[in-house]
Amino acid sequence: RIVFLNGSFLPIEEAKVPFMDRGFLFGDGVYEGIGVLDGQLIDNEAHLERLERSLAEVHIRNPYSRAEWTRLQEEIVRRNGMTEGFIYFQVTRGVAERDFFFPENAEPTVAMFTQAKAIADAPAARTGIAVVTVPDQRWGRRDIKSINLLAQVLAKQAAKEAGAQEAWLVEDGYVTEGGSSSGFIVTKKGSIVVRPLSNAILPGITRKSLLRLSEEAGIPLEERRFTVEEAYDAAEAFLTSASNFVLPIVSIDGRPVGDGKPGPITKRLRELYLSMARVPALA
Ligand code: PMP
Repeated sequence: RIVFLNGSFLPIEEAKVPFMDRGFLFGDGVYEGIGVLDGQLIDNEAHLERLERSLAEVHIRNPYSRAEWTRLQEEIVRRNGMTEGFIYFQVTRGVAERDFFFPENAEPTVAMFTQAKAIADAPAARTGIAVVTVPDQRWGRRDIKSINLLAQVLAKQAAKEAGAQEAWLVEDGYVTEGGSSSGFIVTKKGSIVVRPLSNAILPGITRKSLLRLSEEAGIPLEERRFTVEEAYDAAEAFLTSASNFVLPIVSIDGRPVGDGKPGPITKRLRELYLSMARVPALA
């Protein structure tokens, strides 16, 4: 397996990050994750734009232009022979003696790896998944894709121990988002409900594409917060993320959503997303 670290592609066993890296000591960095289907990067411009924004918000210099990032991403996909899966990349503030203040002349550490994974034919897409609700214990700038994921680690582990595959994070009675996904419900009248963007959630790139596709398909959309009770009572529920596209949610806190099977609007949106992501078949 070949990874990228600070300018070089090398076997993962040889990729070592220094002990004093601020990513390791402080979680002082940001990351991105993007989906790959048919060997193509999905929504890459939007992911690179969000990376630029995350870096600017935490005052870390962006080491590469969009064209340079894209070249590195395409090369890591090629070197690993990956046709379907996930590219993870992160930038930390670099290596310096431990001190909270920004170091004067540290170079950002850049790391990138791939994970091969079935996205289009994932079993979870056919069966749907279970979620459980967990208090949202994260910080106040969830719009920044920070590598500090301790609250998500704890929330998702609690979900796993409860027999679910994702945690829905709850603040003031309202669902913010999933531990690593954007959360949606479909009302009994057939409109999609999704929380509006703010500092309380990550601006999901898959969420953005999904909203465009649902608008084109003429599915009504309500961009507003929804409560846990509304979610229990919804006709359908689903999540979106770069590594899952659209996944049906068939139970919330052990209660079946709708009839307990993936719903028709969710299935339709997943199909629309897949056909957008797929490279047109060669004639
Ligand atoms: N919210 C959170 C907290 C996430 O970690 C993720 C996945 N990175 C998402 C939403 C989904 O975002 P995207 O569609 O850009 O993967």
